Amino acid sequence: MYLSRTPLPLLLCLLTLPTALDAQQPEQPLKQLNRINTTPVYIRNTNYDKKWYEVLKTGINTTRKYLGNYGPTFVYIIGHTDNELNDKQQAQRIIDAYCANRSEGDPKRNEHCRTEKGADLIQRAIAGNTEAYLSYVGYIENPIAELVFINPHQFPMPYLYTRGIHEYTHVYQRGFKRTPTWMTEGGAEFLAFYLGDKHDWIDFQESMRKSLRMIEQVPAGDATMRDFEDVEKLEVEAPEKKRYYRHLAYDAGVWAVAYLISRSKSKSTKAYFKRFYPLVEKFGWQPAIQKYSRFHSTDEFYKSFEEFLNLEIGEKMLLLEQIRP
Ligand SMILES: [Zn+2]
Repeated sequence: MYLSRTPLPLLLCLLTLPTALDAQQPEQPLKQLNRINTTPVYIRNTNYDKKWYEVLKTGINTTRKYLGNYGPTFVYIIGHTDNELNDKQQAQRIIDAYCANRSEGDPKRNEHCRTEKGADLIQRAIAGNTEAYLSYVGYIENPIAELVFINPHQFPMPYLYTRGIHEYTHVYQRGFKRTPTWMTEGGAEFLAFYLGDKHDWIDFQESMRKSLRMIEQVPAGDATMRDFEDVEKLEVEAPEKKRYYRHLAYDAGVWAVAYLISRSKSKSTKAYFKRFYPLVEKFGWQPAIQKYSRFHSTDEFYKSFEEFLNLEIGEKMLLLEQIRP
């Protein structure tokens, strides 16, 4: 089993911050992605090493096999190691596809995209950024998911495989009603650890142990996972807590998901994704927690989880032995 010694990059996947152009009407229910037959469409600059496309595609396909195929999904793999994007045709092909896919035939929107967001993608890659994120385009009639990977060669290997799992899990989650930030990120991390371990890309136990160490770095009283129900709101209301985004949304989140699974009747990982999410869709995330993990209220869940986090590390690790495939 491979033990990753490389620290996970502190690069968090931004679930799109809406701009004026793609802001949702607050009253309007969010449109969602669906289970479909069309497989993800990959767009990349073909003069960039194909290896990174193959790694990401393998991670994404592993997840599609486990969760089902959701979308429509467009995957952009944009790399600049050796001046690849100085080739104007390569760069323009990506911008054209990106903007056409997210404007649904609206020429004004397409034009705006080409000079703004589309051009910016290429600029970020040329500037040497390392990014991986899901962007959900919900303002068009038929919403789409964009998985964007900029300079993926700069992620450690074989961690990059699990990054594909993490991001595709967000595509799946977009097939259901919204969940709190910690649950969204925690679920994506959990599946990345779980499936990553099955393929020997990372070690599940070791990854979970690392997350515990991250949670321990948050000074008592500074913030809790509960503060991360809506990270965009938190940014406005308590920006000083945002520094614990990694620790509390991802690392506490992944443990909260493990905790929920351990409290469910079947203790099955598969059931967390295949039974819990339909409950979220039907009842919303809070009643779903009660039905799935048998807590009487969200407060009771948070309190119980806080108490669990106060246990010794060895006791916490024992929880993982209860979890089944
Ligand atoms: Zn994420």
